[in-house]
Amino acid sequence: MAYKTIYPYTNETLKEYANNTAADLEAALAKGHALYKKWRAADCLSERKNQLHQVANLLRRDCDKYAAIMTHDMGKLIGEAKFEVMLCADIADYFADKVDEFLKPEKFETAAGEAYCVRQATGIIFAVEPWNFPFYQVMRVFAPNFIVGNPIILKHASNCPGSAAAFENLCKEAGCEEGAFKNLFLSYDLVSKAIADFRVQGACLTGSERGGSSIAEAAGKNLKKSSLELGGNDAFIVLDDADMDEVKSILFTTRLLNAGQVCVSSKRFIVTEKNYDRFLADLKDEFSKAKWGDPMDSTTTLAPLSSAVAKKDVLQAIQEAIDDGAECVYGNEPIDLPGYFVMPTILVNVTKENSLYNREIFGPVGVVYKVKDEAAAIELANDSSYGLGNTIFSSNIEHARAVGEQIETGMSCINTGFTTLPELPFGGVKNSGYGRELSRLGFNAFVNEHLIFTPKETIARHAK
Ligand code: NAP
Repeated sequence: MAYKTIYPYTNETLKEYANNTAADLEAALAKGHALYKKWRAADCLSERKNQLHQVANLLRRDCDKYAAIMTHDMGKLIGEAKFEVMLCADIADYFADKVDEFLKPEKFETAAGEAYCVRQATGIIFAVEPWNFPFYQVMRVFAPNFIVGNPIILKHASNCPGSAAAFENLCKEAGCEEGAFKNLFLSYDLVSKAIADFRVQGACLTGSERGGSSIAEAAGKNLKKSSLELGGNDAFIVLDDADMDEVKSILFTTRLLNAGQVCVSSKRFIVTEKNYDRFLADLKDEFSKAKWGDPMDSTTTLAPLSSAVAKKDVLQAIQEAIDDGAECVYGNEPIDLPGYFVMPTILVNVTKENSLYNREIFGPVGVVYKVKDEAAAIELANDSSYGLGNTIFSSNIEHARAVGEQIETGMSCINTGFTTLPELPFGGVKNSGYGRELSRLGFNAFVNEHLIFTPKETIARHAK
């Protein structure tokens, strides 16, 4: 069976799940489509608002339970898992609270008559999600689509089936109607079949470029709208006038949260000559504070990676970088525990020819670059096929913002590490994907902006 919970701390298989069949998929499509039609015909918005608020209430009430499920699926620290559950509750409340404002008809000025757009549901959205934030990634798609009236079918990552099943049960317990959210343990073939089905009106994926291009191909071939949230190789730019104490205070989190398995964690630290030595010393000092061990123990600060394959991939990427001439100045030593731990590692001297130069490492590895000046920092930051997030540190906020605007990326944070909030859009450019989740922009991802136009002659005739 492909869908399994293998606890990354002990390497034990805790539970296996049978794959769903083509008949299960058909049943989910039929139920989801019937519900979409019902929601389209009758005004059920207030019921959905109550249900979404109830999802938030249950998440807060049962935070510990959901957090433990995620930790057992993919190894994240229990404290980080609880934070994720609470963030999901905030996202659910946000969309339930904002939907009336987001649905207000938008007027368009035209001399030809009167025109406005209404925002309406389009049908079932098929979501393919990753394991690194097993609840948060799902909630980013579920909350805006559910509230507007688009049912969701989920194919979650094969290593977090416990979280996928728990999310479905959460929706049921909150009173969401059958068909509103359906988790299926599907093969890739059935994913493509689902996206091709006439009842599915959109597809989204958060994950790798490989997964993204496969979902986008299925969507494009079948003329379905898609949105992709893919990987990143985010720059963290430290300018000459950066407050280095402020920089140091976030280094641990910005690279080691979730054991470094965060799409928007800072992966390339680009530091001007003036601050380079201090920065490197600070990064080593912060990485040396990592305490690996039991992710259920609240004093542990570094989680295991999510799977044996994830650990192998990270170690291999480090070795290939070293073989290509990078220098390891901290870490890369074995950890004698059964879990999938990788020691926080710092690499320097990564040249343009190095395999790591334009590659995302999904683990606790920071690459540090020394650059002559700000112009060189911007050039290096942009010399990437990714464009997800970016961080700039400078004592001059206006200047830092202006530098941020020069980076080819979807999100730039000033004097702070990556940030995600329900009301802020999330997404990237280049190979980091397209489309946005969260905020008003995420709400609009799969809605029909339906124009209602009345010519002025018609209005005049009817006025008589
Ligand atoms: P992945 O292999 O692409 O997996 C993500 C999801 O896609 C899983 O559910 C996976 O299912 C599914 N999948 C992959 N290939 C597929 C195919 N051909 N057909 C159908 N489904 C397919 O990604 P990952 O490597 O596990 O996840 C980490 C990546 O996600 C990193 O690159 C990270 O940066 C990125 N990420 C991006 C964001 C963002 O918002 N931009 C957020 C989080 C993570 P299986 O598990 O069954 O293979």
